[in-house]
Amino acid sequence: MAGGWHSHKTLLWSSSPPAINRNNVELGSMIIEENFPLKNLNTFKIGGSARYFCVAENLEDLKKAVRFAYKHSISFFVIGGGSNTLISDGGYKGLVIKNSIKGVSFEEQKDGTTLVSAGAGENWDDLVQKTVEKELTGLENLSGIPGTVGGAPVQNIGAYGVEVGSSILSVETFNSETMVVEILSVKQCFFGYRDSIFKNPFGKSHIITKVVFSLKKNGKTNIIYRDLKEYFEKKGIKEPSVKEAREAVLLIRLGKFPDLNETGTAGSFFKNPIVSEEFFKKLSKKFLDMPFFPAGEGKIKIPLAWILDKVCNFKGKCFGSVCFYEKQPLVLVNTGGAKAKDIMEVSEKIIALVKEKTGIEIEREVQFLK
Ligand code: NAP
Repeated sequence: MAGGWHSHKTLLWSSSPPAINRNNVELGSMIIEENFPLKNLNTFKIGGSARYFCVAENLEDLKKAVRFAYKHSISFFVIGGGSNTLISDGGYKGLVIKNSIKGVSFEEQKDGTTLVSAGAGENWDDLVQKTVEKELTGLENLSGIPGTVGGAPVQNIGAYGVEVGSSILSVETFNSETMVVEILSVKQCFFGYRDSIFKNPFGKSHIITKVVFSLKKNGKTNIIYRDLKEYFEKKGIKEPSVKEAREAVLLIRLGKFPDLNETGTAGSFFKNPIVSEEFFKKLSKKFLDMPFFPAGEGKIKIPLAWILDKVCNFKGKCFGSVCFYEKQPLVLVNTGGAKAKDIMEVSEKIIALVKEKTGIEIEREVQFLK
């Protein structure tokens, strides 16, 4: 599921971090707190403490936080909603920076589009709601995804046939290597399937501060995915409005995904695998009813939930407190008391079994902070 967003910069220590003052540090209006518990900053509700923690409410805070990390030769990690992050039981030895940069503005353009600028620390679904209220098309299928605006481009969140990258005009970042603000065009973000430049080592120095979307007033909504199509067929609606599409997505998600207020989870734990057509042809001889979707030239996407359910028989199963959600096995849940170590061990088992049964090497979508 869409996520907490991260920029992770590792600096050099040999084995343990250098000794620094054990008290909280005041940097102007921003406080750097020591030994800060991270459990309530991620949706799994798991993990130890950060050696240091601060909340960055603006660019200046961000700069101060990064300088602090450099000065003390510690690594830093930027977190948004913590909805795509598994935090190690031993915590994090560096500085965790919670990106809380706010602000949303709308600017109508002569060509009929509206530019929507949103601070990286804004709640993602609140932003989607605001765009839908203004009848702007583009983000409605991404309704109900947890996390922040800054997290959306990192993994190019996608749902019901729409990826956020297709509505983004540019991403403003603070480059922690050069210490300057940069504007990355959509092309420079290299959006791919649940992927972007911000996930690869080359882009890790970019801390997202603002995202600019280009949305159309009352454009055509996308209802090609089965759940949405069936929903509107039942209602006899051929071309739903943006508001109707958002309502439908929220309702469908409610029936399929756990409520983060009640259940510890990071949503989909793995990415759906994309394989070559040739590989898929061989595999489909063994698994005749395996569903598949075209995923670009010569590529096929296989819903991993189907493999976990029908091939591995994992749906609804538990290993201790780590369970496969009964309605969607791609979602791992902490039913209470699970440690990060337990989740990682279960995920290793899943990766190994899927490889053994199908030959597919699956990848985690959730990032592990240790
Ligand atoms: P679903 O609709 O039951 O579909 C199962 C899988 O098949 C999905 O993962 C989807 O791939 C793929 N699929 C279905 N219809 C397709 C079509 N017409 N063309 C191409 N691919 C198709 O999936 P679900 O588990 O209920 O999830 C609903 C949507 O929410 C999905 O799009 C899912 O990806 C999204 N979601 C996103 C995140 C995230 O961004 N981290 C987390 C949870 C769920 P895709 O995954 O490529 O859509």
